[in-house]
Amino acid sequence: MKAVRIHEHGSADVLKIDTLPKPQPAEDEALVRIKSTALNHLDLWVREGLPGITLPVIMGSDAAGVVEEMGAQAAQQFPWKPGDEVVLAPIRSCGHCYMCASGKENLCAEFRIPGEGMDGVQAEYVALPARFLLPKPVELSWAEAAAFPLAAMTAYHMMVQKAGVSHRNWVLVYGASSGVGSAAIQFAKAIGARVITTAGSDEKAELAKKLGADFVIRYKEEKIGKRVREITNGRGADVVIEHTGAQTWPESLRALRKGGKLVTCGATTGPVVKIDIRALFIKHQQLIGSTMGTMQDLYDIVSLIDRGLFKPVIDKEFSLNEIREAHRRLAEGRQFGKIVVHF
Ligand SMILES: [Zn+2]
Repeated sequence: MKAVRIHEHGSADVLKIDTLPKPQPAEDEALVRIKSTALNHLDLWVREGLPGITLPVIMGSDAAGVVEEMGAQAAQQFPWKPGDEVVLAPIRSCGHCYMCASGKENLCAEFRIPGEGMDGVQAEYVALPARFLLPKPVELSWAEAAAFPLAAMTAYHMMVQKAGVSHRNWVLVYGASSGVGSAAIQFAKAIGARVITTAGSDEKAELAKKLGADFVIRYKEEKIGKRVREITNGRGADVVIEHTGAQTWPESLRALRKGGKLVTCGATTGPVVKIDIRALFIKHQQLIGSTMGTMQDLYDIVSLIDRGLFKPVIDKEFSLNEIREAHRRLAEGRQFGKIVVHF
């Protein structure tokens, strides 16, 4: 089978399409024939070099496909059968610790993301524990089905589980064009909150409005914190959904109201920030970290898809042979929504 692997870290040129043996499903696993995969910023970081990565490694965290075969025990425990259309959750956890048993897979000590500390899903066939499969929503194309899990789960977990956003809230969501941003805007609107987002061009601002954003701040021309204060009549945002890091952090704090919550899941522009703890305690603000999400989040998202309240945004679709071009498009930040690679 064909698989996208790296044997060394570097530019998009290190991506190779290797021929590997087809995996055999273990007792508790399903073997899935992959139809489509989607890129995340994580793919770029893995390619460029993260600690704890053993090479060579199969790339990719998000995929959707068709069940080919079930391990004997998996066939007893789960409803899947060959031919079923499924989405692969970008979650791997031990399955038997207290956190896993209580549905908090992302707090499991053995939590991993395929394509990061282990082989990923950009391959013609993937064997994985059957408990990490979801039904492919019938409303979605293969591209859309592959595109949503990692980004949407991350956004949903921040918005719902960590920030507890309600219809009374003003929410600032960074990066309307990113996978996390485009999902977070839709979830906030589904809840009934008011959304302020950021965009770098007219075209991206227009698309952000179409997704439901009430206000779009042109971050290259306007000060985000000041603009959020103006929009909210001086009050500030109840919740800030941060995934950009060092560059936006000071503006995020300026935008946050007294008693507000800042939830962060990313550091695209740098991981080290400054905090004046006096401002933090005087304003009763909460800083909350969040990584990925849970199977429950994914099932909740599928239910929002079924009700027409969420739709993954696709930027561009590539064939497997164009994998390097797909990586370059993401690295240059030209996209609005998810970049898909078909197998
Ligand atoms: Zn566990």
